[in-house]
Amino acid sequence: MEFQKNIIITGSTSGIGLGIAREFAKAGYHLMLNGLEANGAEIAEALGKEFGVKTLFSPANMLKPEEIQAMVQTVEEQWGGVGVLINNAGVQYVSPVEDFPESKWDLIIGVNLSSAFHTSKAVWKGMKERNFGRIINITSAHGLRASAFKSAYVAAKHGVTGLTKVLALEGAPYNITCNAIAPGYVRTPLVEGQIKDQAKAHQMTEDEVISKVMLAKQAVKEFVKIETLAATAMLLASPSSSEITGATFPIEGGWSAQ
Ligand code: NAD
Repeated sequence: MEFQKNIIITGSTSGIGLGIAREFAKAGYHLMLNGLEANGAEIAEALGKEFGVKTLFSPANMLKPEEIQAMVQTVEEQWGGVGVLINNAGVQYVSPVEDFPESKWDLIIGVNLSSAFHTSKAVWKGMKERNFGRIINITSAHGLRASAFKSAYVAAKHGVTGLTKVLALEGAPYNITCNAIAPGYVRTPLVEGQIKDQAKAHQMTEDEVISKVMLAKQAVKEFVKIETLAATAMLLASPSSSEITGATFPIEGGWSAQ
């Protein structure tokens, strides 16, 4: 069934989302890419050419439900349905709670948490009708554990962990699964920004932030590889993975083992 290989990945024109998109394109999936990067359409076209798959690009802002609905509708109309949805778009801001700007709180909750509700709601009816859906939420070790100075991010990611479980329960009768992947630190543009912000917040050098703050919590003292995340997503997206649902897969070097 061809629609099972149609995938929407939010925030897929940078970092983890782009890396996962590449692996899915390699595996023959047709991709709807999304993100705020100005060269999104070119990225989508290049991936399509390189791997011989269909690609689309939507600049839908994850803060705007009507833009999210339009993105989903495009895939429904042009390709006959959405098989897999990966909620990956995310933003970060690091600050002590007393200085945390209200606008940053709203932004982080909107992009990292509410958008996963809006995208899932938008694909739900079609997935239910076709009796197939695979929803994968890229949460974080911060969906399972907390760190100082990340009030909005930790709250949003814990929220998505909860949403994952609810969608798993509601989707079960319709062969819609929903799982989360919780990465540790992955060296992407988002983390490069955090290294700088954390250096300021903790009053440390950037190297000290990497070793004493970021990787300190992982038993495995290495940044997580995007390939490992993509391989996990590939397993969860598979039609044969119908009994894996409601789970969070920590890919974080043993962070939450402690
Ligand atoms: P990134 O900054 O490289 O990519 C984020 C993507 O989200 C970009 O394509 C950006 O355009 C998009 N995006 C941001 N705001 C958007 C909006 N309003 N509408 C549409 N798209 C928007 O970051 P990344 O490190 O690849 O992070 C991807 C996901 O992985 C995020 O959810 C992040 O929280 C999560 N994560 C990252 C790490 C890490 O160490 N990098 C660890 C755990 C979890």
